[in-house]
Amino acid sequence: MSFATMTDDERWEAMRRRDKAHDGRFIVGVLTTGIYCRPSCGARQPLRANVRFFADGAGARAAGLRPCKRCLPDDVGRDEAAVLAAIAAIKGSEEPLALADLAQRTGYSPTHFQRVFTRHTGLSPAAYARTLREERARAALSDAERVTDAIYDAGFSGPSRFYGHMEGRMGMTASAWVNGGKGATIHWAVVPTSLGDMLVAATDKGVCRLSFAEGREALENRFPAAMLVEGGAEFEALLKEVVDAVETPAQGFDHIPIDVKGTAFQEAVWRELRKIPAGETRSYADIAAAVGKPNAVRAAGSANGANNVAVLIPCHRVVRSDGSLGGYAYGLDIKDELLRRESAPAQRRLGEF
Ligand SMILES: [Zn+2]
Repeated sequence: MSFATMTDDERWEAMRRRDKAHDGRFIVGVLTTGIYCRPSCGARQPLRANVRFFADGAGARAAGLRPCKRCLPDDVGRDEAAVLAAIAAIKGSEEPLALADLAQRTGYSPTHFQRVFTRHTGLSPAAYARTLREERARAALSDAERVTDAIYDAGFSGPSRFYGHMEGRMGMTASAWVNGGKGATIHWAVVPTSLGDMLVAATDKGVCRLSFAEGREALENRFPAAMLVEGGAEFEALLKEVVDAVETPAQGFDHIPIDVKGTAFQEAVWRELRKIPAGETRSYADIAAAVGKPNAVRAAGSANGANNVAVLIPCHRVVRSDGSLGGYAYGLDIKDELLRRESAPAQRRLGEF
């Protein structure tokens, strides 16, 4: 679809949906701010009267507009090439590839690459690789006589790692997950918050996904055979608590149930994250030491990044040893803002999930 074949109404609708598929097809100029963006930009959306559409960045610049520093609209082509190259590398590799390794191939910094990749695919590179391995395991299991062969074929180093990874995820047994997660019902919604659009999804056991700038598609990729139900009375009550927690995190949110499953190490890291009081931060080294593996600083960072439930498992409270913010799956603006909100002193209970 070229610029000329779309109407402004269609562009406006694509922009309202923050539809990534339209990145590169047109540019959104905001006359009041003097900024131009890609259609999927996560920044607050302007009034239609203030928007003008352009075919490309050159057109927007000619009209006196500047590129948005958040969505970097002139990098769309480069981003797509970087994401495609990374996907090819992930698919072609037997072993999980480190974020730094993937980023280096694309010429982006790890933080920026992670953001670009997540924006395009709805998954972090680590989660994408994990999902790919799980899909391969499921596909192999459906016609493999021998389960162990399927596990090795899918790139896991052995049965214990496979089951350590799969068992009980989403509250299901490994066999239920192998069958595509059939039987699990996930209620979900995308709600506007002061931090941008937030996706909240929950099983009957608790919140299984909290993320920003994601929609149904990302949820389907993550839980391909679960039944997805938008809204629902009980879910709405939980959703309200979650939104309150995000808007005023200093008041604590240990009462909100969480339903997550990772490897034993990931879960240990997530449990430690839940123990960091609001208003305080820890380094990756602190977390690695707290789970009894002081040398596993990088693995602690990966487990932090594999967190499915942002805010409620407060991975934003982990910063670099030098005190700088480090990375965040949904952008440093959100991390910075969450930490700012939490710096207000508050009584808080410590809890487990
Ligand atoms: Zn933008």
